Amino acid sequence: MSGEQLAFDREHLWHPYSSMTAPTRVYPVDSAAGVRLRLQRDGRPVEVVDAMSSWWAAQHGYAVPELDAAVRDQLGRMSHVMFGGLTHEPAVELGRRLVDLAPAGLDKVFLADSGSVSVEVAMKMAWQAHAASGLSRTKMFTVRGGYHGDTFSPMSVTDPDGGMHSMYGGLLIEHVFADKPPAPDEPLDTWIEETTRLFEQHADEIAAVIIEPLLQGAGGMHVYSPDAVRHLAALARRHGALVIFDEIATGFWRTGTRWAGDRCDVVPDILCVGKALTGGYLTLAAAITTADVAARVDASPAGAMMHGPTFMANPLACAVACANLDLLASYDVAATVGRIEADLTQGLAPAGELASVAGVRTIGAVGVLELREPVDVARVTEAALDRGVWVRPFRNLVYAMPPFICTRADIATITAAMIGAVEEVHG
Ligand SMILES: *Cc1c(COP(=O)(O)O)cnc(C)c1O
Repeated sequence: MSGEQLAFDREHLWHPYSSMTAPTRVYPVDSAAGVRLRLQRDGRPVEVVDAMSSWWAAQHGYAVPELDAAVRDQLGRMSHVMFGGLTHEPAVELGRRLVDLAPAGLDKVFLADSGSVSVEVAMKMAWQAHAASGLSRTKMFTVRGGYHGDTFSPMSVTDPDGGMHSMYGGLLIEHVFADKPPAPDEPLDTWIEETTRLFEQHADEIAAVIIEPLLQGAGGMHVYSPDAVRHLAALARRHGALVIFDEIATGFWRTGTRWAGDRCDVVPDILCVGKALTGGYLTLAAAITTADVAARVDASPAGAMMHGPTFMANPLACAVACANLDLLASYDVAATVGRIEADLTQGLAPAGELASVAGVRTIGAVGVLELREPVDVARVTEAALDRGVWVRPFRNLVYAMPPFICTRADIATITAAMIGAVEEVHG
């Protein structure tokens, strides 16, 4: 990429959560293969290990032969056709695989074009399901610290502080927020009493509980106990509300099990998946629900599910998702993620000694360093690149969710770089 192109980027392109008037530095990437990104630093090419899987997505790394082939093969037939009134093999085959992978009973699939849209759809399903019985249940019950996407409805159930609810006051539906669930080693009793009381106060208005089970991702990389997940689901069911699990980040074995919900022994009424679905190749997500919810949605005054994106079930995305799910079925993913978890845990343990580090935690193929102060993102990014690793910290968190194909040496490179970079910049 030329200096002129980089200048154009700076002048004209928004990047995620970035300022147009004072953008932070971005690094051009020329290509990527395996777990490595080939990027430019000050005009020089460097190869670094990607510790981020491109935001939870590329769990098999880059230029994956099976995934490349799936896209090419589909390209030879068609890239896209509308899904209204038409269907195609990639959608059907993906639907079949998702129904097999989803917990028993979840077998009605809505293919959406991004995670946020799948959450929109899940929330709409819940609202429509209650509209059928004439109940005015318009509120979601959730916990603080969550993240469900950036469009308005998902934003309205995202953490009120992290989601800047005060700035959007009047534009967001006000939902019911319980406190963030305690970490696994903290007592639960008080939180359970308080959430129960809060739920009971609003029971008649609650359409659904929506949570990221076990691990809150972009809201703060907070791990919490399966008991808390079970409690929230039980509250919902006791009071006739639905349970929505947003597993867009946690799904497909990222936390060690197929779904984070598996570890909690809870089957939701609606499951949202996204991010790693296509192995990071193309944007695709799904909201998967039960026959019962689907029937209730159809019994609503609308008579059908009122959603239909232009690029619904895009064939290229469905084809690569099929190939990616076939890859996941071809090896022992749980054992692989278990090995990564052990290596992340061992590799990050020495960070506990650093003065700047308040906490170290791992769950599945996710490793987190929590700092006592906000991360100097630009400097920590540079310091990690010096050590051959791409990380993208936020707030007070430096974390990794590496591709599952990382070798033990790659994981050691990642953990050493995280610790080295944090120590160099924050002490
Ligand atoms: C990323 C994410 C979303 C939003 O997905 P997009 O594809 O970015 O719209 C929703 N929920 C969770 C838990 C996520 O991690």
